[in-house]
Amino acid sequence: MKLYVKTKCTFCLGTKERYPYSSCPYCGIEGTTYLEASYKAIKKYILDLPEKEKCELRKILYEDNSS
Ligand SMILES: [Zn+2]
Repeated sequence: MKLYVKTKCTFCLGTKERYPYSSCPYCGIEGTTYLEASYKAIKKYILDLPEKEKCELRKILYEDNSS
């Protein structure tokens, strides 16, 4: 399984200026595209979760350590 983040297009930087006569082939109407989430992005996502969800994750991780 892979996780993705929605981010500004890395080819046209969300401006679509490189492709004045057609739409950018690498992104959608919003100038965004999906990239595989880095470990850093996943860590930030987890740290920003509500406390209740972080507690659930801690519980899962501690249970996994005991096996
Ligand atoms: Zn683009």
